[in-house]
Amino acid sequence: MIPAGEARCSRAGCVADANWQILWRNPRIHTADRRKTWLACDEHVGYLRDFLTARDFPLEVLRFPLPAEAGAIV
Ligand SMILES: [Zn+2]
Repeated sequence: MIPAGEARCSRAGCVADANWQILWRNPRIHTADRRKTWLACDEHVGYLRDFLTARDFPLEVLRFPLPAEAGAIV
């Protein structure tokens, strides 16, 4: 789990706070229970999602932090 206060967008060169998390995996190298997490700001969530979609990687886009996690102590 990533502490919300340290979360930055995963896009190269972007230092914006992350508002989204993209959970994805590469079926060719990751087993079904593995998930990579990319964080994204509002501007780049579409870019990162399209990058993965273009490679046919299964992915899920969620808010970051999840509402249930917002008050959690990490
Ligand atoms: Zn960004």
